[in-house]
Amino acid sequence: MGSAVLAAIGDELLSGARLEKNASFMAGHLHNKGWEVKRVEVIPDEEGEITALLTRWVGRTDLLILSGGLGPTHDDRTRYAIAKYLGCGLSLNDEMYDRIVSRVKHDPLRLAYTERCRDPQALIPDSAQAVFNPAGSALGIRFESNGTTTLALPGVPMEYQAMTRQELPEIFAPDSEHCWASVIILGVPELTIAERVPEVIANPELHVSILPAFPQVELIIRGEARGVSEAERVIRSRFRDDVLPQGCSSLAEAVLYEARFRGARVACAESCTGGLIGAALTEIAGSSDVFSGGAVVYSNEAKSNILGVRAETLREFGAVSEECAREMAGGALRIYGADFAVSVTGIAGPDGGSESKPVGTVCFGFASDRGTRTMRRKLPGNREEVRSRTVRFALSELWRMIHDAW
Ligand code: ATP
Ligand code: MG
Repeated sequence: MGSAVLAAIGDELLSGARLEKNASFMAGHLHNKGWEVKRVEVIPDEEGEITALLTRWVGRTDLLILSGGLGPTHDDRTRYAIAKYLGCGLSLNDEMYDRIVSRVKHDPLRLAYTERCRDPQALIPDSAQAVFNPAGSALGIRFESNGTTTLALPGVPMEYQAMTRQELPEIFAPDSEHCWASVIILGVPELTIAERVPEVIANPELHVSILPAFPQVELIIRGEARGVSEAERVIRSRFRDDVLPQGCSSLAEAVLYEARFRGARVACAESCTGGLIGAALTEIAGSSDVFSGGAVVYSNEAKSNILGVRAETLREFGAVSEECAREMAGGALRIYGADFAVSVTGIAGPDGGSESKPVGTVCFGFASDRGTRTMRRKLPGNREEVRSRTVRFALSELWRMIHDAW
């Protein structure tokens, strides 16, 4: 095995505003495969620091992986630092960037944004190669020099992980007994899922677990590597519109991923969940670039005073009503200046139910600049279960709303 040096670039990592995830992720995988991780460095978003890092390590380690600084803004300096280090110019790699663009061509919003980022995200130093990004839009950079393979990858952890897997398959190659994949499908009953992928379920080489947790079903496929990845491909192709993006292991991650991709901001208004939706979103590091905030509005007064729910609405329909949920979502969209908002108001129990609104009745509101939409559901279970189902349902519909950009 070889030696590796890992570097994370970003002022936010040095100030403590973000917890460094990429080097630690990679260090674990390299370590597991018997590599020597010689150094982990965190450096600021400065061109001089990046060229100094390259000078320090190229020729002194087998593998050097940089993370961050490849985005479209002024503080993203990695590509220029590499060009300076290699003493070459930079050119747009349109061919590879077109592949990124074609992935979002069905979606006018994403398409326009991705095209806007072409220069500089497709700019690659002339003496280096471009690295495809399967999870985002910034291209990575790879070059070999003095016995060192250098990889520069985007800092967003999901993109970093997808690209290290792609570029260094030997480090992630599972031993044949322990390979597995997880696919999360929304809103499709487990039996229907099983019926739609009969060859995966019946494959004697694979072990498939089907784990429902309303409104999602997670499939965990275990087996030999090639069989698992083929099974994952088949499942993803059959549930195209209902499957969370690859690499997203929760609904909250999928919401953040989808919103981040569009440069959109998200807000929430919560009654019966008392902040659990905001908690689920903020549990994920890096959520601040997407999540604006959430209001916990438990009383009628709070719903009116903070979110502007009208007194007549509360009087005529009650706090647990689609009408109230609609105004809550609209209020959250407005006060947080968000692009997408979700609201929940319901009866978690054990008391407070009535014949027309039994315990477990929850109303959901969704708002964006395209308008508002509401839903009402009767969720089973005790207080804790009603609340956690409410959170998952709200996040799954929020994900759909952003994904479909209705
Ligand atoms: P890219 O190359 O994709 O632009 P970047 O670091 O230049 O990456 P930023 O806009 O600085 O992009 O970061 C995007 C998000 O990724 C931020 O939330 C940032 O905190 C996070 N991030 C960047 N590097 C790391 C890291 N090493 N560990 C964890 N999070 C990171
Ligand atoms: Mg950065």
